[in-house]
Amino acid sequence: MIAISLQSGSSGNCIYVETSGVRLLFDAGISGVQAAERLAAHGRDIRAVDAVIISHDHGDHIRHAGVFHRKFGLPVYVTPATLAAASSRCTLGKLRDVRHFRSSGKLAFGDVLVEAIPTPHDGADGSAFVVQSGGKRLGILTDLGHVFEGLTALVSSLDAVFLESNYDPDMLAAGPYPAYLKQRIRGPRGHLSNQESAELLRRAAEGRRLKWACLSHLSEQNNNPEQALKTNRAAVAERIVLHTADRYAATGVFTV
Ligand SMILES: [Zn+2]
Ligand SMILES: [Zn+2]
Repeated sequence: MIAISLQSGSSGNCIYVETSGVRLLFDAGISGVQAAERLAAHGRDIRAVDAVIISHDHGDHIRHAGVFHRKFGLPVYVTPATLAAASSRCTLGKLRDVRHFRSSGKLAFGDVLVEAIPTPHDGADGSAFVVQSGGKRLGILTDLGHVFEGLTALVSSLDAVFLESNYDPDMLAAGPYPAYLKQRIRGPRGHLSNQESAELLRRAAEGRRLKWACLSHLSEQNNNPEQALKTNRAAVAERIVLHTADRYAATGVFTV
């Protein structure tokens, strides 16, 4: 299995996963042109993608789903509540091929299984995902809300993970955001901090299954890659390879 983050963070999210002849995109928060160009730079044709799977109704995850569908012919996998919430907020345009799933459900693409895990984030009906194929498990875990029951065990059950490491608590406290927004981010339906992701990885490192983690959905104002890496590195030393997902560009190709 291989995976590429095409972009990650509040400006837009999109992750490409390819395994067993199946090609999937998770979220459509960047433009069709950007997604196509960044995939082409890695030798991939966006028109060959089998599905775009949407995590939740926030614009940075769903904004361009209609374009992905109409321009590249991708079926859109989304929960009914996520689609309803997003449709009332942003213009998705006409969707002729919508396939519904439940936020606690499973999707099968040939031999590839995608498991949805409901999240307590403040979307209408959000989910995180595990892609399973050939005995390997990749987690796509952002916009998590808080460290909910089962999350620690879930991370430890993976071979690799894109894991939310959104903010540094001191930077958030000292930063320019208004009080209500600071409260939303650190609250139970917001985002995970560097410390929270570090603790999840520290526990996973004890299990020895997790090989790499790509720290994802980093805040521009309340975090930076160096700080996120420092906090997470302190928790896992060299036991897990750490990457960061760029807010405005694609990563390299990661192998699971
Ligand atoms: Zn987001
Ligand atoms: Zn969100």
